[in-house]
Amino acid sequence: MPTLVWFRNDLRLHDHQPLDEALRAGQPILPLYCFDPRQFGQTSFGFAKTGAYRAQFLLESVADLRQSLRALGSDLVVRVGQPEAIIPELVKAHQIKTVYWHEEVTAEELQVERAVESTLADLSCAIEVYWGTTLYHPDNLPFSIDRLPEVFTQFRKQVEQHSTVDMTLPRPTKMPPLPQVAAGSLPSLSDFGLEAPTLDSRAVLAFEGGETAGIARLNHYVWEADCLKTYKQTRNGMVGADYSSKLSAWLALGCLSPRRVYETVQAYEAERIRNDSTYWLIFELLWRDYFRLICAKHGDRVFYPSGLRGLLIDWQQDWPRFDAWRSGATGLPLVDANMRELACSGFMSNRGRQNVASFLTKNLGIDWRMGAEWFESLLIDYDPCSNYGNWNYTAGVGNDARGFRYFNIPKQSKDYDPDGHYVKHWLPELGKIPAAKVHAPWQLQPVDQKRFGVTLGVDYPRPVVDLHKSVAANEKIYNAAREIR
Ligand SMILES: Cc1cc2nc3c(=O)[nH]c(=O)nc-3n(C[C@H](O)[C@H](O)[C@H](O)COP(=O)(O)OP(=O)(O)OC[C@H]3O[C@@H](n4cnc5c(N)ncnc54)[C@H](O)[C@@H]3O)c2cc1C
Repeated sequence: MPTLVWFRNDLRLHDHQPLDEALRAGQPILPLYCFDPRQFGQTSFGFAKTGAYRAQFLLESVADLRQSLRALGSDLVVRVGQPEAIIPELVKAHQIKTVYWHEEVTAEELQVERAVESTLADLSCAIEVYWGTTLYHPDNLPFSIDRLPEVFTQFRKQVEQHSTVDMTLPRPTKMPPLPQVAAGSLPSLSDFGLEAPTLDSRAVLAFEGGETAGIARLNHYVWEADCLKTYKQTRNGMVGADYSSKLSAWLALGCLSPRRVYETVQAYEAERIRNDSTYWLIFELLWRDYFRLICAKHGDRVFYPSGLRGLLIDWQQDWPRFDAWRSGATGLPLVDANMRELACSGFMSNRGRQNVASFLTKNLGIDWRMGAEWFESLLIDYDPCSNYGNWNYTAGVGNDARGFRYFNIPKQSKDYDPDGHYVKHWLPELGKIPAAKVHAPWQLQPVDQKRFGVTLGVDYPRPVVDLHKSVAANEKIYNAAREIR
């Protein structure tokens, strides 16, 4: 009797426990991916839940998985519809006795999982569910998830001291043939009402979905370009492909397993060099683990306006200012360049994300969930735990929020874009302004505006807020917030 492996955000063949276990059972296997129309609906503020950049990356990832399964003698069954309707149909039609999958931790994913579970229970079909998204498996942690430390550093130190990372599971070399079933064709972007995004030549990378491209990127970054040894010094960059690993999108859709990244780093340390930088990439992967585990611990709280901390802040839903933020027209070059990069490419550096999120919440005082949903819509690497976890953190409603903290945009601009290279890359209208002045165009006298070919209020906006006054006003609001936990 066949088994079914339900692929979700784990679009790979390497290090895939559900597939590994199904293969061990020695029965025919039906590998399945469902494009769930709910994922292509709207967020609560009305943005496309999966925008064109991520949808395209997802389609490529599913196509790559299908290709890989075909090369091993099987195929990927593809359906458009709700898993809780499709899986039971397949179970009935093919007398499937067990369904295998990787579990998720956040609300929408869990809701689907529960619905699938209950329909399968009615059919007396067994389920085998595995954890597979993090570097450290929860079973190897020195604490249970409900006792997870609320402060990242405490989590990291305990994990580094007391836990080990499991080895990756091997990629199968052969698959049993697919049972008699129509494999189904892949949908296209237009089926979800989306248009194919055009690649902006200024984008950091032409992200291509799939395990094959993910492994190629890992190999490029670590071995070919030999960038790992300087990662700690370059990771705060904003221009170009190799200042950081750019692995996030493949990790988010599970095209790459974090343990595979870990093993590559270990091999690099053994063969080339072990230093602060090689450690730091793993340190960043621990942030990823942490947000996922924190979401597993606190359930839906990460999505509440009051966040993990339970802090009721008087946020504004100021659409004109939000529109200025999302379209890159705030008059603050660092913010605008980053927001245009996101809109034109589906990616933004970590430095950029921190700055624009701080500006939205600490200068504009706008509801952080509007920003989080905008990121959800556009980011190629969107992951509910990392996105909402980081937004909680920046908005000051995270679990270890330490009072009102904000990014000083002019200082950040000088520190991380001293020659103005980044802002000019995305804001060509500022191209002729010298580096020393490009981060504060509002200070340009009319004669300079003429000289540099930019008229304020015409070619480039004046700032939507006064940086100092707005921070002071929002700090007051923050300090007046009520804790509800
Ligand atoms: C407001 C905000 C929203 C974010 N939303 C997301 C998101 O939806 N998806 C996402 O993957 N990351 C998110 N991040 C984290 C981080 O910005 C990206 O992971 C990183 O920029 C991706 O680029 P990279 O792969 O080159 O990272 P690298 O610097 O090369 O880091 C390696 C890997 O470590 C992980 N990582 C690094 N920093 C973080 C972090 N702060 N939190 C969690 N994981 C991290 C990622 O998996 C990343 O691929 C967000 C950060 C902020 C401030």
